[in-house]
Amino acid sequence: MNFDFSEREEGFRKDVRAWLEQNLPDDLRGRAFAASRADVEEVRRLRAWQKTMAEAGYVGMDWPREFGGRGAPITEMVILYQEMAESPQIVNRGGVSMLGPTLMKLGTPEQQRRFLPRILTAEDLWCQGFSEPNAGSDLANLQTRAVLDGDHFVVNGQKVWTSMGHVADWCFLLVRTDPTAAKHKGISFLLVDMKTPGITVRPLRQITGEAEFNETFFDNVRVPKENLVGTLNEGWSVAITTLAYERDLLTFVRHISLRNALHRLVKLVQARGRNTDPVVRQKIAELWIGEQALALNGYRSLTKILRGGAPGPEGSTSKLFWSQLDQELALTATQVIGPYSQIAEGSAWAPDHGQWQFYELLARGSGIRAGTTEILRNILGERVLGLPKD
Ligand SMILES: Cc1cc2nc3c(=O)[nH]c(=O)nc-3n(C[C@H](O)[C@H](O)[C@H](O)COP(=O)(O)OP(=O)(O)OC[C@H]3O[C@@H](n4cnc5c(N)ncnc54)[C@H](O)[C@@H]3O)c2cc1C
Repeated sequence: MNFDFSEREEGFRKDVRAWLEQNLPDDLRGRAFAASRADVEEVRRLRAWQKTMAEAGYVGMDWPREFGGRGAPITEMVILYQEMAESPQIVNRGGVSMLGPTLMKLGTPEQQRRFLPRILTAEDLWCQGFSEPNAGSDLANLQTRAVLDGDHFVVNGQKVWTSMGHVADWCFLLVRTDPTAAKHKGISFLLVDMKTPGITVRPLRQITGEAEFNETFFDNVRVPKENLVGTLNEGWSVAITTLAYERDLLTFVRHISLRNALHRLVKLVQARGRNTDPVVRQKIAELWIGEQALALNGYRSLTKILRGGAPGPEGSTSKLFWSQLDQELALTATQVIGPYSQIAEGSAWAPDHGQWQFYELLARGSGIRAGTTEILRNILGERVLGLPKD
């Protein structure tokens, strides 16, 4: 496989770079890392930025043209993400990378027409309503109920850890529509307008100090029947599709963020004169090799998706490996900085504006979101290696 970029691709890189230089607002420059999705005003700025990018054709580039994308090859996506190293990632990531591909595959033509364009522009910001207090790793245990009443489902129950639920316009929601069926049956996948009466969103503060998470309560929430994705009671297979995209495509995006963080770490090590320390050098080399392995695996599964295949359980390898690297990278940075690494953004003493402290705390969640480390190991054991089920 040839990993060099062609002349045409380097031309595309130049175009993207020039476009970003001209269009990225000053207040978002260099905010790849710190842009907060908890702050309402910041989210407003990030939405406007995504809209600008979408209008220039830089969001959902890999989506087929019929759905508003460019049908771009993987190489162009890689180049785009690389060039976006100093700008924030798109804010409607769950919409673009999880729900969008799911709707393109399983949505009705009407759902595709109505929702896909507004996902790209972030005019509709989406959140994911899967987890519940007693349904996380064991997602199929979910208890939020939806009962069909005429042309509407009536939803009652509670979701938790809803990232960006406080700012989202819509939610892709898993509900139980047949409580008598076996656990993985009787689940349905609904698209819910967050402004519907009966929805209450309560923020949950995280270890980083931010409240990007929420508890979301549904009290007799009426959802039109046409907002069902796929077949009634067959929502589990829709959810599996969505989660596979989360582990696969999103991990790919995360690997670029990881590479950018690694570059920042190298600069940090140099600035602190630790680049002659053999232990630090060894650690950086390990992280570098890990990042390369992650990138190559990412290219392999993205190539499969772009050739018309669907993401498979092997995406779990990338997610698992990425989360380990992410945590090791954060830890290495804090070890290089020493006790000062505990100082948060906002203090004049905070090294690098507190970004490493924030990173270290945020990375705690990397081994939990999109499948915990233990669950991913189970998937790999059972579905990739063919070992007996636990
Ligand atoms: C940053 C972040 C963002 C998130 N955003 C969202 C969101 O937007 N929407 C949403 O719906 N959810 C979201 N989540 C929730 C996430 O999907 C769940 O936290 C995750 O699925 C784990 O579920 P849980 O927290 O209930 O833990 P549990 O499932 O209760 O697990 C607790 C521990 O037990 C272990 N464990 C559980 N079962 C097994 C088993 N069979 N074998 C071995 N070990 C096991 C787990 O690995 C874990 O260590 C987010 C989480 C994080 C960290």
